Amino acid sequence: MDLNLFLLLSALLGLALGSFASCAGHRLARGGSLTSPARSFCPACGHTLTWRENIPLAGYLLQGGRCRFCAERIPLRYPLTELASTAFCLAAAALFGPTWHWFVAVGFATLLLILSLIDLETFLLPDALTLPGAAAAFLASALLPPLHTLGIGWRAAIFGALLGGGGLWLLAWAYRRIRGVDGLGLGDAKLMLLAGALLGPAAVPLTLFAGALLALPAGLAAARRSPRDGGGDGLRTALPFGPFLCAGALGYLLAGPQFLRWWLG
Ligand SMILES: [Zn+2]
Repeated sequence: MDLNLFLLLSALLGLALGSFASCAGHRLARGGSLTSPARSFCPACGHTLTWRENIPLAGYLLQGGRCRFCAERIPLRYPLTELASTAFCLAAAALFGPTWHWFVAVGFATLLLILSLIDLETFLLPDALTLPGAAAAFLASALLPPLHTLGIGWRAAIFGALLGGGGLWLLAWAYRRIRGVDGLGLGDAKLMLLAGALLGPAAVPLTLFAGALLALPAGLAAARRSPRDGGGDGLRTALPFGPFLCAGALGYLLAGPQFLRWWLG
């Protein structure tokens, strides 16, 4: 396939998958069904969206970021999700070309995007998504031939899953012992089980490091916004860690080894 055509199709698929992820995240976060109602609707007034309002990104821009019926603001995370998905699909297309690896990368990016949106709204990473995701990650690692960061083989997948899932489980256990409260959720451990199975043991410390680095400014901002209500320390103001881990893992998928080479000289 012509590379420019493939890039164009990837961008369009990224837009559509971003729109799907927004909708799926919104519905699953509320315990709703993925498929009913079949048509998208405005969460504020219930108005069913026309096909024109439903076009990713363009629909948002054409309406000036508001619902045409009730004029309620459309949350900025919808167009941002669509942009992030498009950027990832394009980058994966440029990196992997038209391969199964590209297909797997895009599939996992969409899953991690949905998980991030659910975590942002509910502070939960549902087992119903992370555990089958981890199994699929193991299969992809075992079946794909090696190319860049994917197709690491079943041994590296097992080692990565143990390091990611087990490492975070230990951290969560230690935090609870020392501080007497839950700091890290076990959902984060299952997310790292998935990331480790897909990307291998080397990805685990880098994903954690990148996730913590990305979460730091957001955590400080959250701590400033809610100063010591209820007497707790501001930094413990619940901030979901999942979206930052997802960003770290997807960053590793695209450029982890290059970053490591650059960092280690
Ligand atoms: Zn509305």
